[in-house]
Amino acid sequence: MYKSFLIKYGEIAIKGKNRYLFEEALVKQISYALEPVEGDFKVRRLQGRIYVDALGEYDYDEVVTALSRVFGIVGICPVVLVEDNGFDQLAKDVIGYMDQVYPDKNITFKVNARRARKNYPINSMELNAALGEKILEAFPEIQVDVHNPDVLLSVEIREKINIYSVEIKGAGGMPVGTNGRAMLLLSGGIDSPVAGYMIAKRGVAIDAVYFHAPPYTSERAKQKVIDLARIVSRYAGPIRLHIVNFTDIQLYIYEKCPHEELTIIMRRYMMKIAEYFAQKNQCLGLITGESIGQVASQTMQSLAATNAVCTMPVYRPLIGFDKKEIVDISEKIDAYETSILPYEDCCTIFVAKHPVTKPNINVIERSERKLEEKIDELMREALESAEVIEVAAEEE
Ligand code: ATP
Ligand code: MG
Repeated sequence: MYKSFLIKYGEIAIKGKNRYLFEEALVKQISYALEPVEGDFKVRRLQGRIYVDALGEYDYDEVVTALSRVFGIVGICPVVLVEDNGFDQLAKDVIGYMDQVYPDKNITFKVNARRARKNYPINSMELNAALGEKILEAFPEIQVDVHNPDVLLSVEIREKINIYSVEIKGAGGMPVGTNGRAMLLLSGGIDSPVAGYMIAKRGVAIDAVYFHAPPYTSERAKQKVIDLARIVSRYAGPIRLHIVNFTDIQLYIYEKCPHEELTIIMRRYMMKIAEYFAQKNQCLGLITGESIGQVASQTMQSLAATNAVCTMPVYRPLIGFDKKEIVDISEKIDAYETSILPYEDCCTIFVAKHPVTKPNINVIERSERKLEEKIDELMREALESAEVIEVAAEEE
């Protein structure tokens, strides 16, 4: 029965010129989210509101699912839009609406009328009373409750009259594209996709880099990361994924450096490479899925050692989260099933039995000096041979 959706968005942070940018980005992201959904849709701005119109047949649940992934949306209201043909016709339309949406009339309701167009002859208070009366006349079982109604029926007099009573909670946050771009270090694990999702939620567009080590890591592990990027892109918009062959660098570190320092040194080179691609893509920061104390490479000392090679800010949105909290978000965004597929994302021969948990930066730097001979060349090869894939959301 619904041909349109009224999109509600938070208006606190958007004043003046920002409002325009915010709405532009929101319209763009809504269109993007609807692309994989079957049917034709039009997204339009009208008098400080955004509407999604379905131009033909469509699946209601699919549209709601797609819209509920768009950051910046606070509420999604399926809405009936009617022409203003006088009060009697409006009363009929409203009664028709209530009848269709609430087959069971054992409910309480309240009319919330709003006259956005002041030339309408009846004011909001009068409309509340008059429409309320008409509904009560039409359905004897129904009752009014002005304090805690089951149904809050909004009737807004605008260019067209908006009738709605259902509001589906939106994703919140800010539209992607309103807050710059950052480079996500995306592995095949649970944490990094969640980290990317959380930063995108604040309006940041995302690119990604994945380090693989063929033949030690499989083609399937790489495909898993592409799949995860696709899942994140449902929320974050298109992602440019850089796939870096890290094998020779890893082998060289393995050959030259103490094995208990392997992970830390490896992580430092990952950050350097990520930063290179970040700069190339106008990113303003890096994103990782680290959280304090989760593993040896994420103690305060290890994070400090990893961070020391970065010149850009590193955003770690999961820093204070327990694993359980991360898993909950991973499940919510439908990444979990993919994240737990058992393909190795890093070869076990490169993981020491007793990695340092309190690395000293001076000691690490001294170890890295043993790499001087070949590391620049290996880094250059890794940068030059990186594969770039443009990932975007697909039909599910
Ligand atoms: P995740 O679940 O995200 O893999 P993790 O708990 O396994 O995290 P680590 O393997 O120590 O933790 O990695 C910490 C962070 O470093 C990851 O969240 C990710 O941002 C980045 N990272 C690790 N391995 C890779 C990789 N192969 N490619 C890209 N980024 C990686
Ligand atoms: Mg991992």
